[in-house]
Amino acid sequence: MQAQQTNRAAAPGALDAGTSRRALVLVVDDDAAIRGTVADILELEDYAVTQAMHGEAALAALDELAERGAAPDAILLDMRMPVMDGWEFARRYHERSGAHAPIVVMTAARDAGQWGGEVGAAATLGKPFGLEELLAVVERLTSGNSGSRTARAA
Ligand SMILES: [Mg+2]
Repeated sequence: MQAQQTNRAAAPGALDAGTSRRALVLVVDDDAAIRGTVADILELEDYAVTQAMHGEAALAALDELAERGAAPDAILLDMRMPVMDGWEFARRYHERSGAHAPIVVMTAARDAGQWGGEVGAAATLGKPFGLEELLAVVERLTSGNSGSRTARAA
């Protein structure tokens, strides 16, 4: 299994039971330090987080979540990754049927605007980005959105 899940989200059924969680965020980045830091920040703010190290692992993580009736409310996506990059992930993700979570492109600031547009991103985070910027973007895209997490209270 290539997808990594962290924290309480890793326990079977945890997502279904986690009605107090604000939203589920899929964090996709091949840089383990960035991925882990972003996940830690979001978890401290009571988001549920699933991590993946590249696009292929992210697609597998989406499948695993779907088996439990869950789906992310937002996807934080690095672009330059081995195995499957952010462009290919976004293309395959949008080919899938059903609802699609907003994508937030996380990449070097000089590329963020252009690359975000190329994958239809709802927002961009130019690396290096700060804690407050991260939380503001995620909150804006997930608050008041019941998303596809049927277990989450409106
Ligand atoms: Mg990268």
